[in-house]
Amino acid sequence: MSNKKLEKYKSKRDFSKTGEPSGERRKKNPRPLFVIQKHDAQNLHYDLRLEIGDVLKSWAVPKGPSTGTGDKRLAAPTEDHPLEYADFEGVIPEEEYGAGPVMIWDTGTYRNLRAEDEEDGMDMDESYKDGKIKVWLNGKKVKGGYSLIKTGKDWLLIKMDDRESDARRNPVRSEPASVKTGRTLDEIREEG
Ligand code: MN
Repeated sequence: MSNKKLEKYKSKRDFSKTGEPSGERRKKNPRPLFVIQKHDAQNLHYDLRLEIGDVLKSWAVPKGPSTGTGDKRLAAPTEDHPLEYADFEGVIPEEEYGAGPVMIWDTGTYRNLRAEDEEDGMDMDESYKDGKIKVWLNGKKVKGGYSLIKTGKDWLLIKMDDRESDARRNPVRSEPASVKTGRTLDEIREEG
């Protein structure tokens, strides 16, 4: 079965050339996943992806996530990615869409805080359409509550005020390597 949501993803890629997943497998995870992929394409950025339904909803965050309460980071929406993209680390070949190394910078499960709020109760699909997502990320580097708020075309990624807030941590700078393989972006670039 083809997934209509992935048409844009597929149209941008030649799967005989790129090692990225083609998106044929659709196995939901028992708990929804998030992944943050550090991607050195034309500009270095951090791709935040949340498992919502049968795809990874995706945003490109140029500066990466902040751990400081109230810090706002621009999050530009990008095309839905297949669920198995959460496992992708490697190099997108030259001249292909998004050419450059991709690192699994952080990953883990997440909780939907709006669904946990009895007066609110919105599921992730509704939250996405509402342009207001509130999640608790259980990553290795990135933990705690984050809001994603739609403001026109773009979204903002904002750290919520909770016990995981710590403006001094700055894992984007202090923990640059892959959470999956321990490799740096340069090592991925060389090894593929
Ligand atoms: Mn990217």
